[in-house]
Amino acid sequence: MRIFHTIAEIREFVRQARADGHSIGLVPTMGYLHEGHLELMSQAKKQCDTVIISIFVNPAQFGPGEDLASYPRDLDRDAGMAETVGVDAIFNPGVEEIYPSGYCTYVDVERITDRLCGASRPGHFRGVATVVTKLFNIVKPDYAFFGQKDAQQVLVIKRMATDLNMEVEVVTVPTVRERDGLAMSSRNIYLDPAQRQAALSLNRSLKRAAAEVRAGERDAAKIRQLVIDIIKAEPLAEIDYVEIYSHPDLEPVEAIKGPALLALAVKMGRARLIDNIILHV
Ligand code: AMP
Repeated sequence: MRIFHTIAEIREFVRQARADGHSIGLVPTMGYLHEGHLELMSQAKKQCDTVIISIFVNPAQFGPGEDLASYPRDLDRDAGMAETVGVDAIFNPGVEEIYPSGYCTYVDVERITDRLCGASRPGHFRGVATVVTKLFNIVKPDYAFFGQKDAQQVLVIKRMATDLNMEVEVVTVPTVRERDGLAMSSRNIYLDPAQRQAALSLNRSLKRAAAEVRAGERDAAKIRQLVIDIIKAEPLAEIDYVEIYSHPDLEPVEAIKGPALLALAVKMGRARLIDNIILHV
């Protein structure tokens, strides 16, 4: 497995892989890898001849007061993990490589970014769309892999790729969870044992909501309130949002008739955790 820090090096690696007739898969990450990331890489490995992952903590997607400085970073550990699933190359650029001085171009996906995490983290998806566009332009992958854990993010990337005629197929990989149901996240290391326990209410509430829908409940407001009540029962949890939108269009819904995204964000001490489920009728 190769590790590259410059755009010129990764481009040369891609050029050679292409010359060998290889298809290219890209898995963008911010590093501090866990089983969720590895699942994306394994999927990529199944679908593509050459798999490249990027590890870049993207300043453009963090707001003021967020955890950019403290976000966990450990390239040696990540490289060891990526190698176990057969990743061919890691692209790990520095901030100056991606945003050199004088940088002033950004990608804005409208409408579907004005809700959920887009509303509570202004500018977040502008940063995500911009860095992913740059990674697509640098690597020119045939396939790019994103986790359903970040449900809105994958919809934004798909929308962007379609709207801007990008020649890449965006693949969604289901959320990988700990044995007790907590969605895996690099930010879970911020949790102390009591917060870690309280965080189980997120997945528990989503499962309860899905069970209610299976039992015939269709009223989105009632389902939303049920989720809020379950999470509020945990004193350590501070709800950022609990929302239900149509999936994949993210339109408001009153009665659940087709696929609907139930998504939530909850602050648990220093950690802001997100999770979601798609409700089917
Ligand atoms: P991050 O490093 O948090 O930016 O995540 C990189 C990619 O991994 C994104 O596409 C995420 O959606 C995906 N991802 C993160 N956590 C999980 C998880 N628990 N299950 C599946 N995919 C995940």
